[in-house]
Amino acid sequence: MKSISVLGSTGSIGTQTLDIVKKYPKEFKIVGLTTNKNILLLKEQIEKFKPDVVSVMDKEKADELKSMADVEVVTGINGLTKVATLNEAETVVTAVVGSVGVIPTINAINAGKDIALANKETLVTAGEIVMDLAKRKQTRIMPVDSEHSAIFQCIVGEERGEVERIILTCSGGPFKEYSTERISNATVKEALSHPTWKMGGKITVDSATLMNKGFEVIEARWLYDIGYDNIDVAIHPQSIVHSMVEFRDRSIKAQLGIPDMKLPILYALSYPKRFKADFPRMNFGKNINLLFSAPDTSKFPCLSYAYESGRAGGVMPAIMNAANEVAVDYFLKAKIPFVMIQKTIRHMMDSFKNISTPDIEEIMETDLMVKEESRTFLDK
Ligand code: MG
Repeated sequence: MKSISVLGSTGSIGTQTLDIVKKYPKEFKIVGLTTNKNILLLKEQIEKFKPDVVSVMDKEKADELKSMADVEVVTGINGLTKVATLNEAETVVTAVVGSVGVIPTINAINAGKDIALANKETLVTAGEIVMDLAKRKQTRIMPVDSEHSAIFQCIVGEERGEVERIILTCSGGPFKEYSTERISNATVKEALSHPTWKMGGKITVDSATLMNKGFEVIEARWLYDIGYDNIDVAIHPQSIVHSMVEFRDRSIKAQLGIPDMKLPILYALSYPKRFKADFPRMNFGKNINLLFSAPDTSKFPCLSYAYESGRAGGVMPAIMNAANEVAVDYFLKAKIPFVMIQKTIRHMMDSFKNISTPDIEEIMETDLMVKEESRTFLDK
């Protein structure tokens, strides 16, 4: 039986992780849960999964929960770290949103935990440091993202040196067919209506700008130690081919399946095994058209910004990420038009000086500074 801590258990990936845990009670056991401030849902989860410790980011909400639930309640970033490093936890699912996930993930790796990584911002902002640390600590980083899970599944049993190219598939998001003009003024509701995936608010907006795909390019670079020139993105509106790997003999492997995040979550937790599941089967008797095309980076510049910042290295990806986090938050609160997300990122990438080999403190300082500056820029 595998003991699991879930950071961000009340979010989209967190709740789906618990659905999986509930389906396999002989295989998985929950020892720690965390939320930002959704204590009502957390209370339900505590009753169902009986964790040893829970953490609530918001201090007031943490105090409120203490009077409601019979469990150890901790708070703040230290609380998050406590749950990430619990003695009993073997695997930590990092499903918090944003750069707040970086430090608890590093602490979990330091404590020798295997990571089921759903927090993209960790590898975007601190990919080199995190992967070096994981190697030194000999812990496993299993991707929860559908694309990276697909790549992992294509590479299992292959020689790493024989991988020549990764092709990340991308649904194209809700604005694939929109004109540039219409994208500029897209509403929150439009941005949140993703054609194939049901996800949390922030990542759904990231999918609409294609920033999400950009993050995934950077994640792939670090997870699979491959250069940016060897990572391509293909628009694939059906979200059935979850990604592909090309080998040096030009053979290509793809991983297919229905678009349901529970599949990559289950694989991340069951690996190296596969557990029997009852997801709907793909029906190839129906006419299934699988289409692929190139992304239009003139309409979706955020994807190019990701390649640019990734190639620049240093703190540039952290600058991009921090600007995006603030701008998406403003957009979701309907304070800025959609086009300001890409403009904020561009402005911050042009305004801040890069630091070539930053340590984790420099990365986190940059993250704070850029967020502050982005708020000032957008409040004007
Ligand atoms: Mg993905």
